[in-house]
Amino acid sequence: MSEGLPPRVGVLALQGDVREHVRMLRELGATASLVRRPGDLEGVDGLVLPGGESSVIDKLARAFGMQQPIRDAIAAGMPVYGTCAGMIMLADRLDGAIAGQETFGGLDVTVRRNAFGGQAESFETALAVAGDDDGWDVPVEAAFIRAPLIVEAGAGVRVLATLPSGGIVAVEQGHLLATAFHPEVSGERRFHERFLAHVREARASAR
Ligand code: GLN
Repeated sequence: MSEGLPPRVGVLALQGDVREHVRMLRELGATASLVRRPGDLEGVDGLVLPGGESSVIDKLARAFGMQQPIRDAIAAGMPVYGTCAGMIMLADRLDGAIAGQETFGGLDVTVRRNAFGGQAESFETALAVAGDDDGWDVPVEAAFIRAPLIVEAGAGVRVLATLPSGGIVAVEQGHLLATAFHPEVSGERRFHERFLAHVREARASAR
């Protein structure tokens, strides 16, 4: 019945670049709402975890009682897209976590926080992305800001992009999508479009 309805996407709004994601999702025709409390998850078909500071997002998520509901939603197959700190929050394993830092998990990867030291802390680069659907022939202008890197990925994880150094910076596993960079900052739409395709697919198969 919800065939023609726009996908309803929540953006976890505890800390980070929430507004940029909301703007991008609305430009792409989705309904975007802010998620701060467990009840806010009820009306959404997918969730975006923004960039920001993962240790702060983790602390606030636990303080607001959001950790378990989000873990449950991921386990139930809800599509989730995490950028940068959001990617860290999706990782099953962390390298360089602060003491006691936890994640939601779901992605069978090890993520190294702040993987680029010194001058390379923030940079932009053109990335080739291995999306099999149309539209990936033009490289992605990727903005890395104190970015993490995936240093190990399980067999069920599809690698979508790597840096020339071999570092993994975009992955997909089931309905989970993660990038170490920030398409919402550079105006790059294709990852959000790919995520919305997951949301539509998950919604269709839930009926
Ligand atoms: N370094 C941040 C962290 O560890 C991530 C930076 C970002 O999201 N731009 O959470």
